[in-house]
Amino acid sequence: MTYQTTTVPAAGARITATAGVLNVPDNPIVAFIEGDGIGRDIMNASKRVWDAAVEKTYGGTKRIAWMEIYAGEKANERFGAYMPGETFQLMRDFLIGIKGPLTTPVGGGFRSLNVTLRQELDLYACVRPVRWYRGVPSPLKDPGSVNITVFREAVEDVYSGIEFEAGTPENARLAKFLREEMGVDFFEGSGLGVKPISAFATKRLMRKAIRYALDRKLKFVSIMHKGNIMKFTEGAFRQWCYEVAAEEFAGQTITEDELWDRHGGKAPEGKVVVKDRIADITFQHMLLRPTEFDVVVAPNLNGDYLSDALAAEVGGVGIAPGANIGDAVALFEATHGTAPKYTDQNKVNPGSLLFSGVMMLEHIGWWDAAKRIEDAYEKTLDQKIVTYDFARQMEGATEVGTREFADAVIKNM
Ligand code: NAP
Repeated sequence: MTYQTTTVPAAGARITATAGVLNVPDNPIVAFIEGDGIGRDIMNASKRVWDAAVEKTYGGTKRIAWMEIYAGEKANERFGAYMPGETFQLMRDFLIGIKGPLTTPVGGGFRSLNVTLRQELDLYACVRPVRWYRGVPSPLKDPGSVNITVFREAVEDVYSGIEFEAGTPENARLAKFLREEMGVDFFEGSGLGVKPISAFATKRLMRKAIRYALDRKLKFVSIMHKGNIMKFTEGAFRQWCYEVAAEEFAGQTITEDELWDRHGGKAPEGKVVVKDRIADITFQHMLLRPTEFDVVVAPNLNGDYLSDALAAEVGGVGIAPGANIGDAVALFEATHGTAPKYTDQNKVNPGSLLFSGVMMLEHIGWWDAAKRIEDAYEKTLDQKIVTYDFARQMEGATEVGTREFADAVIKNM
């Protein structure tokens, strides 16, 4: 098949999926979106590190065939569209991709490209593993106790885009309906939004989260919600999550109540404990008792806040990785923005994108290459070789640019 916006690398083969399980050739084609602002710097540096790790780990028998696909400013310059329709098709056809950050102007008329990608490709699980790497500056006394993966629902909740601007005829119609037919009231001239949360979307997220915990032999899956206030959206989210655990993973999960009532507080071998916590107290527990969490499942907005707050505990968004995953398509991404003031300055920390690539290598089953990067990264931090953001928080650090940081990681492999 030919495409208008990209050339498929002749040296690569397609990754396919059978019933949700990936078939990965030794020369898989992986799509990348460079990203705006600092995207070019961090993508170039990270690709060199991923390639070096794969080369050193598999001695040349495996190699990623990179295929650039376009979104954001580069897409607009080349093809006159910030999000060419073909980009979605390429992701559907090639399944695995990685992206730098994309600019989202504030205000009306321009939908977030990131949200558009998630929704168009139905990438419903936003997965953010948050763990500390030795040497990374942290505000916590014991950052090593943080090792938590957030599964944030990524396509519904208040991100669904169902909003009606104050003063428009649509808003007036909805306000009239709500007042006259539903018997509710609110201030005149309110902007109105709808927050849909469905059993379908909640359950498929919870299924992925439980499988993730089982695959990694983790102890807890915690449902984070504000169901005490929003009973039929967040409260229902909690309920549906518990239903998935009880109905589909009965032999592999127990609830927190069962843990205490039947097992004296000690989980039987191999069972994941499913519990729930209200959103506000979850933030406190993340700081004070992080070891009580392994996987956290959250609706979209709560999960958004929680992921960044957690990232701050172990080094900030400059190194926090992420992925948006659907049934087969997975798009890994830097979680920070485009930091436009640092564009092309060879300055910023490539860590967030770099570790998103580590997640990607794990996702395609190349675990040893992923581990090699993590080890080399820690060695580099041991040597106090860091980019500006960490240098300002460390005594005696050697500050280097994005490229030189990548060089040091490669040297330490
Ligand atoms: P930002 O780009 O994340 O930058 C905020 C600050 O975070 C930077 O000024 C810098 O702080 C620090 N930072 C970000 N990335 C870093 C890195 N790799 N290394 C070191 N420090 C880093 O957030 P923003 O300024 O709010 O957003 C800018 C644009 O990005 C907006 O258009 C926004 O919509 C977009 N955005 C995109 C995504 C995405 O594509 N996933 C996510 C968020 C925002 P210091 O200057 O203090 O060093």
